[in-house]
Amino acid sequence: MTHRIVLVGQNTALPFVFDAAARADCLITLIASPGVPVPADLPAVEQVIGLDFWGDPAGAHARLAAEHASRPFDAVLTLTEAAVPFTADAARRLGLRGIDPESGRICRDKHRQREAMRKAGLDVPAFRLIDPVTDIGEQVAGMRFPLVVKPTNGLSSQGVSRADDLASLKLSVDLVQSINAEQLASYADASHGERAGILAEEFIDGPEYCVEAVSSAAGTAVLAITDKGNLQGPYFEERTFITPAPIDADTAARITEAVQVAHRQIGIDFGASHSELRLPADGTPVLLEIGARMGGSGTVQFLVESATGIDFLGAVLHQAVHGDLPDLRPTRRRFAADWIVPVTGHGVYAGLAGADEVRAHPATDLLLEIMQPGKRVPAWPRFAGYPAFVLSSHASYEDCHAFHAWLQDTISVTWE
Ligand code: ADP
Ligand code: CA
Repeated sequence: MTHRIVLVGQNTALPFVFDAAARADCLITLIASPGVPVPADLPAVEQVIGLDFWGDPAGAHARLAAEHASRPFDAVLTLTEAAVPFTADAARRLGLRGIDPESGRICRDKHRQREAMRKAGLDVPAFRLIDPVTDIGEQVAGMRFPLVVKPTNGLSSQGVSRADDLASLKLSVDLVQSINAEQLASYADASHGERAGILAEEFIDGPEYCVEAVSSAAGTAVLAITDKGNLQGPYFEERTFITPAPIDADTAARITEAVQVAHRQIGIDFGASHSELRLPADGTPVLLEIGARMGGSGTVQFLVESATGIDFLGAVLHQAVHGDLPDLRPTRRRFAADWIVPVTGHGVYAGLAGADEVRAHPATDLLLEIMQPGKRVPAWPRFAGYPAFVLSSHASYEDCHAFHAWLQDTISVTWE
């Protein structure tokens, strides 16, 4: 039997959710922001509706309700961070499965997340909301440098920077202030835009991990823990992901426990999530954040499936449509990696040098070109999208690293 699902705000350069929907006999109603081009030949897509779910959520909900009344949907979901609250609201209004909209809103606000994690008794870095117009030194009194400054609602590390002293802290705050203003101005009607604050927190030193999980009333099941390297800043452009991370069973258990506690506290009891954390020298995981949606706009499907054999998106779609989760036990053990081609500059994006060599390498499963030539790309820490992902699988963790060293020398972006 075919199921009708609403997919909100998907990056259509990533094939995973469309392919998974086709496998699961789901037909997608894709909700795209007006003006965002959508390729005509996406698998499983039965219709595309342009809805300004950020600028005019009430209008978007009304349109979905009308569609649902004439031909009911079975599920509504998103893999897009900024669309999480709208999607949770839509599920609630249409009587479909989803997370509590309030949980979605907590996840979109890094300050509220911090408060929730602290309340749950988890280790959190000292943090403070910054008012850019009053004395900044006073506001961080008692906090230990280095600090990390970020927008409260950011994504893809945009505007996140490390400040080692008060002078650089002021620059970091100015930067977030201007990025927040730019983001707001990018809405068709700025009065509807998502207003963001400025968060300063202590820098947690130690390797970083991502956790891919799926939650239900029974709790949060961790499917994979991924090595995300150990970026030291001053900016944090995401670069490499290797699944599984080379950690011992005790460390994995501590990470799993912290992630489960945070999910319970925030109320995430349904669907995929993507958590990020660092492991300082004392071995107690410090959660950086939880996204109440699948990681990498669905790219983690590749990491989880190649490394464990678990069909993550298959499970998520099944749960969205039927309510229960299939068997989530791993059936294989490989090392899977995602290497992001770095931006390393700014200008007008022309394409990739070295793409053919990378495609021809036996370890390469997929080279996903995401950025469109002609795109104007600002310098980091402004984010205009990722150029490309190289997805690969290997017999060992060391092989992943060797391959990534080769990629570093082989593929790069070119500018007009
Ligand atoms: P975003 O939602 O934009 O990804 P994050 O809060 O996840 O924002 O920050 C992006 C990256 O910056 C993290 O993945 C991490 O590498 C680094 N980072 C953020 N906060 C801290 C912190 N308190 N300590 C150390 N690194 C941090
Ligand atoms: Ca993040």
